[in-house]
Amino acid sequence: MSSSENQPSSNFIRHIIAQDLSNNKNDGKVITRFPPEPNGYLHIGHAKSICLNFGMAAEYQGDCNLRFDDTNPEKESVEFMQAIERDVQWLGFKWAGKYHASDYFEQLYDYAVQLITEGYAYVDSLTPEQIREYRGTLTEPGKESPDRSLSVEQNLALFTGMRNGDYADGQYVLRAKIDMASPNINMRDPALYRIRSTHHQRTGDDWCLYPMYDFTHCISDAIEGITHSLCTLEFEAHRPLYDWILQKLQTPSHPQQIEFARLQLEYTIVSKRKLAQLVNEKHVNGWDDPRMPTIAGMRRAGYTPTAIRDFCERIGITKKDSWIEMAVLENCIREDLNENAPRAMAVLNPLRLVIENYPDDQVEMLNVSNHPQKPELGIRNIPFSKVILIEQDDFAETPPPKYKRLIDGGEVRLRSSYVIKCNEIIKDNKGNIIELRCSYDPHTLGKKPEGRKVKGVIHWVSEQHSLAAEIRLYDRLFRIANPESEQNYLDALNPDSLETLSNSRIEASLANADAGDRFQFERTGYFCVDSVDSTKDKLVFNRTVTLRDTWAK
Ligand code: ATP
Ligand code: MG
Repeated sequence: MSSSENQPSSNFIRHIIAQDLSNNKNDGKVITRFPPEPNGYLHIGHAKSICLNFGMAAEYQGDCNLRFDDTNPEKESVEFMQAIERDVQWLGFKWAGKYHASDYFEQLYDYAVQLITEGYAYVDSLTPEQIREYRGTLTEPGKESPDRSLSVEQNLALFTGMRNGDYADGQYVLRAKIDMASPNINMRDPALYRIRSTHHQRTGDDWCLYPMYDFTHCISDAIEGITHSLCTLEFEAHRPLYDWILQKLQTPSHPQQIEFARLQLEYTIVSKRKLAQLVNEKHVNGWDDPRMPTIAGMRRAGYTPTAIRDFCERIGITKKDSWIEMAVLENCIREDLNENAPRAMAVLNPLRLVIENYPDDQVEMLNVSNHPQKPELGIRNIPFSKVILIEQDDFAETPPPKYKRLIDGGEVRLRSSYVIKCNEIIKDNKGNIIELRCSYDPHTLGKKPEGRKVKGVIHWVSEQHSLAAEIRLYDRLFRIANPESEQNYLDALNPDSLETLSNSRIEASLANADAGDRFQFERTGYFCVDSVDSTKDKLVFNRTVTLRDTWAK
């Protein structure tokens, strides 16, 4: 049983929320939000945040909103918004409300005017370089901008000009007037608005100035009545600013920001910017490439929502950064598919085997159960005939020690079928094995052979009944656990992350498999019908995960 079906393990955020509820804080309500920027597809790190935000809300009969943080129009798109909605839904969550930071542009602007009016913000004409220079360092205080002393009227006039498009991009910024000597650099008069004459996917050309994250986020949370604003640790140092803005504005509610550790997963990268680079420079075949740690990539690879939710529950929520092993994620999908995926036989690299004592035109239909532990998954008929295909690997002319598969003169069982014996090896003129001549023992169907032990069992398909398939074997996208430890993480790409087998043969019962269907190919791994390239004439399968952890030492 997967742990998501058990009692959830506890975490410090759950404790905070439970405590707040017992104090009847926020009138006993829990409202969270998941706030992605629509500048790429969601990845497994986002899944952690989604499971946390939606999960906490569900656990306490609260609501979770989906809010697009769409304040950087250059990098954002409708395609990304649609992909995000699809992925959240696919993971099994329903938002209470769908909002956009851009829904609040007018209100945000009014709040900015209020800050200016109360003397808490000013329009600065310093160049971006000067602003950086004036900011100071961790050890030295910053310097005040000369524009800090402009009057409220002057600031209001300039801010109106910013809105009206009177100035060039970068000519002015609106800054909070806090403390240029604060030990927290985020409090040294942070920028609240910048001029960007960019078309916005939702507000069109209405705006040529856009609010910054720190200004937008806390106010959007307050407008929506968010009670617990859960975000990743890098925002911890922004919390004083979050609280400062809401205090100064006396917003109707004052959400509590709580930070937790980002997911860091070995052998992969969770940064939309870098994932975008992989896509744009064609190191992978799109955002939904099965090697990508995106939700879309994992879905296409054959991951289930259950496995991803289970993973998020298992890794827990902490305040401390840590690396999670890929095996943790892979074990979640293995466990789910082991329990739920029907079995099938597929021969990835076929070797022909002719059973000489089997009648030429005979075909037997063998009844085989679809799942060894789950009779409710039914049975299927698998044809057996004179010419069989087995895996090249399952025959060895000079076998290594303890080899339990087929050898010259040896016997092996064909799974769910007969015991066969190899009598002769046929080679081409280059010495490659092209065919095995075998015999079968007709008394071994569902029975042990008499007077001898046959240990090995191998999978197979009947040549004439089998179907052609392309099989894509995916491996880790990066060679090393932490790709970002390389100077250029692209140098850490695994050159062998995809192996395509185009001559594979699969059992006939798979003819009706649909895009997204998942199977355990016996002895080989878990596979899923590719949702993009698979056709009725040539099925394409993606390997979701190997049967065992082949990376473990
Ligand atoms: P990226 O750098 O990949 O774009 P981000 O944090 O900028 O990440 P957002 O779209 O702003 O991406 O994130 C939406 C939410 O998901 C935020 O609350 C963010 O903290 C959370 N999130 C993003 N990455 C992770 C991660 N690796 N682990 C946990 N939560 C994450
Ligand atoms: Mg971001």
